[in-house]
Amino acid sequence: MLPVAVAEPDVPSSRGCAACSGRSARATPSFPFARTLGTVPTSTRTTRATLPACAPDWIRRLPKAEVHLHLEGCVPLDTVGLEDAGHAGVELDPETGAPAFGDLAEFLAFLDRCCARVTRGEQVEQIAYGITSRAAADGVGHADVIFNPTHWPAWRSDLSELVARLDGGFAAGEADHGVSIGLCLSLQRTQPPGESAELVDWLLATRPDRVVALSVDGDESAAGRTGERFAPLFRRARAVGLRACAHAGESSGPEGVRDAVELLGAERVDHGIRAVEDRSLVQELAARAVPLDICPTSNVRLGVATSFATHPIEQLRTAGVPVSVNTDDPLLFGTSVTGEYTRCVEAFSWDRTVLGAVARTSIESSFAQPERRRELLADLDDFLAQGTPEPDAATGARERR
Ligand SMILES: [Zn+2]
Repeated sequence: MLPVAVAEPDVPSSRGCAACSGRSARATPSFPFARTLGTVPTSTRTTRATLPACAPDWIRRLPKAEVHLHLEGCVPLDTVGLEDAGHAGVELDPETGAPAFGDLAEFLAFLDRCCARVTRGEQVEQIAYGITSRAAADGVGHADVIFNPTHWPAWRSDLSELVARLDGGFAAGEADHGVSIGLCLSLQRTQPPGESAELVDWLLATRPDRVVALSVDGDESAAGRTGERFAPLFRRARAVGLRACAHAGESSGPEGVRDAVELLGAERVDHGIRAVEDRSLVQELAARAVPLDICPTSNVRLGVATSFATHPIEQLRTAGVPVSVNTDDPLLFGTSVTGEYTRCVEAFSWDRTVLGAVARTSIESSFAQPERRRELLADLDDFLAQGTPEPDAATGARERR
């Protein structure tokens, strides 16, 4: 059983390096619910001694995108009455009292209980706005947010209203925080074919501006090999200019990653880490520069990877596969983008060059509008050229260019 601390803070604590502070003050948020929303967790964890005090702050300010983030994992549990997770029917770890998920199926079931409690438009707006607040506090300039209507029973008969409420919350957050957000409408691997086709029909008939991509997620191992089934739906979406991404290589093996790229036309693969089991596939992904948007803590918590230290992200990265680092479901795993990057520094001794490359991949593989992507890449170039203090996990030294 894998314990998951719902409210456990994530970001390894900075010890107040003055050289790394100086994030500009933000205007008072205009959105009325701003004060009630979750923010990037403040750490109580102790960072490893080899990690310099400034590293988390440097990483936080590093311009980047988040491209693997589920709306369903961004519901503050105290807004849906599940802060006492035992009431949600989730087992509690006997030592920590934290909810525990044995596997991906248990985790997805918990998501359903959580999202079923979101029944009011104001709740949806709050959740959307909270995503923008946390992105800004994490140095994330753009986020592609995956949402899967099968998890939102109160909105199945009025999906347009759900998207409109999300759009309202995102728009308010974009205005307050200067970030940009795109939505990826996701099919579910295990849903009946008729339902997924209806969803794509709805998407193509309504074409909400906020929705930029078609996605598919869910339990790949329970669904079996479904590439052929979903391929026609992705073809239809791509034909009208929607982007495409797909969960694969999480509970499915390398064949799932292959199907995502070759059958669904996925421009990036969500997770994709089990590609590492097939050397020729890794070589292909590297040669074709297919990006994998990876969520290391999620993989460890759900038993897809045995530990952070042995997570395949480093093997994939060093083999030349473009990788980005993401949170998946930050409010359920207690993760943040800064926390995930920082753990990679701790585990793999990533230096400034590697961190910059990973941030660049996150922006380049995002579905942000071309002009926005150029802005973020320019921000990244400026940041890296400024000679900001370099996190150096090996020595803890601070260097300037
Ligand atoms: Zn995911």
